[in-house]
Amino acid sequence: MSNRVIICDFDGTITETDNIIAIMKRFAPPEWDALKNGVLSQEISIQEGVGKMFQLLPSSSKDEIVKYILDHAEIRSGFRDFVQFTKDKNIPLYIVSGGIDFFVYPLLEGLIEEEQIYCNKANFSNDHIQIEWPYSCDKSCTNDCGCCKTSLIRKLTKSNQEKIVIGDSITDLQAAKLADYVIARDLLLEKCQDLHLPHQSFITFFDVINILENLEEVRA
Ligand SMILES: [Mg+2]
Ligand SMILES: [Zn+2]
Repeated sequence: MSNRVIICDFDGTITETDNIIAIMKRFAPPEWDALKNGVLSQEISIQEGVGKMFQLLPSSSKDEIVKYILDHAEIRSGFRDFVQFTKDKNIPLYIVSGGIDFFVYPLLEGLIEEEQIYCNKANFSNDHIQIEWPYSCDKSCTNDCGCCKTSLIRKLTKSNQEKIVIGDSITDLQAAKLADYVIARDLLLEKCQDLHLPHQSFITFFDVINILENLEEVRA
C-alpha cells in the first residue's frame, strides 16, 4: 500500500488550456476582461473575480457552454493511463480544481470517478449563473481562493503521507508549498525553480507516470 497521495489540478494541467478563460472569451461581454485583470493583479480575490465573471452569463446558455467546452477542450495525453497507474499502485488521487462542476464533470466523465473531484459548483436557478463554493478557505487561509487547494490538502491528506502536487499555474503555488514533491509545467514550473521547491517538469501524463515510477517515496 502506497503512502503517497496525489493532488492534481484540472485547468491547464489535465486540460491543455484554461476553460474559464475559453468560456469567457466566447460567451461573456467585454466587462469580463477587467475582472480577469483584477484577479491577475490580485486587486480582487479569485472567488470574487470568478463569481462576477459567471454573473455576466445568462443561465440559459448552460447547454451551449457545455457543448462548446466538450468540442474545444483537450485532455492532455496520458491522463487515462495515469489514472489507471494510480489505481494499480493504490495511490489516492484527488482532482482539486478552481473550475466549475458543469464543465469539469462532463470533461472527466469516463476517466475518473466524481468522488475524486473537488471543484466549484454552478447554480442555474436565477437569470445569471451563480457560482457556489463548497470548498472555500478554512481558518488557515485568508486568500478567498474560491476552491481552496491548501484547505483541501489539509482536509484530504494525513501528515505522514507523501504529498505530490501536479499543476501549472500560480493558483497551485500555495498547494505546491505544502507538497513533498511538485510535478509542474508553465508558470508553476518557474515558481518551483525560483523558490527551490523539489520538483520535476512534465509535458504529458506519460511523463508524470515516469517521474512517479522513478521517485523514491520520501516518507515510506
Ligand atoms: Mg491550472
Ligand atoms: Zn484559500
